[in-house]
Amino acid sequence: MITERFAPSPTGPLHLGHAYSAWTAWQAAKENGGRFLLRMEDLDRSRVRPEFYRGIEEDLTWLGLTWDGPVLNQSDRVAAYQAALQHLNKAGLTYRCGCTRRDVAQAISAPQEGSSGAGHGPDGPVYPGTCRNKNIDRDAPYATRLNIAAALRAVPSTDPMVFNEIGAGPDGQTGAIAVNAAQMITEVGDVVLSRRDGAIAYHLAVVVDDAKQGVTHVTRGCDLFAATPIHRLLQKLLDLPVPIYRHHPLVRDDNGRRLAKRDDARAIAAYREAGLSAEQVIEHACAGAEIAPLTR
Ligand code: GLU
Repeated sequence: MITERFAPSPTGPLHLGHAYSAWTAWQAAKENGGRFLLRMEDLDRSRVRPEFYRGIEEDLTWLGLTWDGPVLNQSDRVAAYQAALQHLNKAGLTYRCGCTRRDVAQAISAPQEGSSGAGHGPDGPVYPGTCRNKNIDRDAPYATRLNIAAALRAVPSTDPMVFNEIGAGPDGQTGAIAVNAAQMITEVGDVVLSRRDGAIAYHLAVVVDDAKQGVTHVTRGCDLFAATPIHRLLQKLLDLPVPIYRHHPLVRDDNGRRLAKRDDARAIAAYREAGLSAEQVIEHACAGAEIAPLTR
């Protein structure tokens, strides 16, 4: 049985892009007699608002996208993420990082760091490694980073890391996609697994939860395609099953820009209040993603 999920962050109203993602996952689950799960990715406590949890459920219900079982809130799952983090710590694949965002920006622009031309990865500029070989004080605020080179070395070369992409990445990447170790070091770098404020980072939580919820198919926007090799690596290190991925085009506004939470005018609720039907909203979302609506 297939299990799809929709995993929004309750930090703003759902817009057409979310409608497209949720509907695509729901449709695939229904066509195949599978399950469609709802997960609130609510680890960023500074941006989460109670009204957005309610709004997400109301919007999905109005669109006719009902989910199976209770909603999973990531904020209730911190112990599971901490256990995964401990496992990586014990394997010697992480380190404490005392850098602020500003420190990272300064290190990247400083010529002595030798990092000019630093890549820009899924989480922003590639971390130049300032704290990699330091022993950062536990008593001051610190983030925990994955030592990506050490992590890649921990995976035997006879054990290729591949994921199956049945949608497409932003450049049309599809099929069996192999994790490219050299590219991960230069273009992804030592990603944060736990932030300075103690919050667990998305990459770690998402793989732990997809495994826990038995997710077989991950349907999401192709902006997350670049993060998928990180997820694949973490699945390998934590011995978690690997779902099939289906990345889809992003819904764009009339000027070709991707939609963001701030685009309240594109919020599903705004269309609903303007009198559109759920079907019209889904068709509109499909048009924005330049995809012909699938028949319902
Ligand atoms: N929480 C993420 C978002 O709202 C989605 C993560 C995922 O689907 O893996 O963009």
